[in-house]
Amino acid sequence: YQGLAGRSTSEVLQLYSAHGQQQKLQRSSAVTQLHGVLKKRLKQDLKSLCSFVLELSKDFQHQSKTHLCQVLTAIQGIQLENEAMQMFQMKAFDLEQSLQEVTERYEKEKQKRRALHNSLVELRGNIRVHCRIRPLLPFGTASGQAISEDRQRNFSEKVAYATDDETVLVKCSRPGHAPINRTFQFERVYNALESQDIVFADVAPLLTSLLDGYNVCIMAYGQTGSGKTYTMLGPQLEENFAFSIEDESELGIIPRATQEVFRLLSEKPPGSYWVEVSVVEVYNNDIFDLLAKDNYGKVFGVKREVVTTREGKSDVPLLMHETVENAAEFLHLVNKGLQLRVRHPTLVHAHSSRSHLVVTLTITTIISGDNFGTSWEDEPMSHRLNKDVSCTFPQKMRDNKSTSSSRASSPTQLEATEKLKQVKTRLQLVDLAGSECVGMSGVTGAALRETSYINRSLSALADVLGAIAEQRSHVPYRNSKLTHLLQDSLGGDAKLLVMLCISPDQKYLTESMQTLGFGTRARQVQRGQVKKKNFPVPSKAK
Ligand code: ADP
Ligand code: MG
Repeated sequence: YQGLAGRSTSEVLQLYSAHGQQQKLQRSSAVTQLHGVLKKRLKQDLKSLCSFVLELSKDFQHQSKTHLCQVLTAIQGIQLENEAMQMFQMKAFDLEQSLQEVTERYEKEKQKRRALHNSLVELRGNIRVHCRIRPLLPFGTASGQAISEDRQRNFSEKVAYATDDETVLVKCSRPGHAPINRTFQFERVYNALESQDIVFADVAPLLTSLLDGYNVCIMAYGQTGSGKTYTMLGPQLEENFAFSIEDESELGIIPRATQEVFRLLSEKPPGSYWVEVSVVEVYNNDIFDLLAKDNYGKVFGVKREVVTTREGKSDVPLLMHETVENAAEFLHLVNKGLQLRVRHPTLVHAHSSRSHLVVTLTITTIISGDNFGTSWEDEPMSHRLNKDVSCTFPQKMRDNKSTSSSRASSPTQLEATEKLKQVKTRLQLVDLAGSECVGMSGVTGAALRETSYINRSLSALADVLGAIAEQRSHVPYRNSKLTHLLQDSLGGDAKLLVMLCISPDQKYLTESMQTLGFGTRARQVQRGQVKKKNFPVPSKAK
């Protein structure tokens, strides 16, 4: 400002603006410098950022490529696995199908083989032998309380098995005894789990045969406690020895067979048949009529005799035959008869039956004159041409001619036809007495006598089968009342089924082997083809 003194205002103004401009110039060069530096820095940063981003994207690309590759490989792997799985599935399906085909073929072949075997059995007149192995039972159920100590040991050890539906295997090794490993073949073998239903299913075709005109006999053979009565009748009621008809699924062959017979008969023309029943027991070689009656009702102890007729058939004169109209009536009668059955509690079985029980169901079919066949060989002449037809009808039918629903057309209608003929077919159902060996049961006195009679009658049965098997001219039917009574069924007049019953327990090994031996011999019997009764075609046949 000192220098400004003495200067004019315009000079001062000039100097002032020059100074301002200089300062402006100085500031703008600093800004430019700063701008340059900043720009350079920014460029550098941008460059490094770019290269970083580039790096990053390269890295990312690389990584994503690798992952993509991995995903692709994994997908390929999965696809391959899927294909393999599908192939396996297809193979499994194919295998399953072929297994099913093979199983079906096997079943068909088995059925064919069975059918062929059955025809062979029919042709040869073989005795069909089935074997049922009962379940192991809790101690005391099937065996008495007083079994000897020796027998109590190993009481529940199983030695008999059904290896398939035709084979029994007995396998046992006891210290001090030779080991046993034997198989037995039968037409059918039932294991412990097979129900009464299944057993009956195999018996049912025989009943169709019965209605076709064949005699049929089914008998249960085995030691006491092996399941004969269970198989033939069903579980027994403790208090009165009758069998329970409450539980249908537990019913045995006799009640089921009767139901089936009446079912089959219901398809026949009403009035063309009637059914009679007789119940006998063979005890100590005597035949007792369990349906015998006096004026006051049932009596026990009525003995009957078995005779051989002129035609060579066995017959029991005076034997009570009761007419029954349905299965319930039949079962009621059988149950009443059973309550009279002689028993002696041996030590083997608390309720052992010491007699043979023979229940016979006779179907008489009436054929009117127009339908007679030319061959008529079954009935004796006296029965064949009945001048007084009404006398051949059972008492009940004569008394009650119009009430029966199953035989709606009354016998009087049939009486009007002069020429009436009958064909009788017979179903014999036999529950044999226990086949245990004497001495094993610990019996003495009267019971020993019973046992020895039982053994003699069962030996007689085996002898008869042996004689038939060897085709001997003399068959010793008359050696025992049992065989004499069953003569026609045993000798080839009937389709015969023996149902062997065995206990699986080791303690009954001896008896089981004896039973299996009996069955094996029975199977070898060839009696020649069983004859069919000649049924003319009934006029009212549906
Ligand atoms: P058996 O008449 O041969 O002397 P049972 O038929 O009386 O023999 O049978 C003896 C016991 O075994 C009975 O208590 C019976 O109910 C039982 N039992 C027999 N077989 C069978 C079976 N298959 N299933 C169940 N229990 C059976
Ligand atoms: Mg019994």
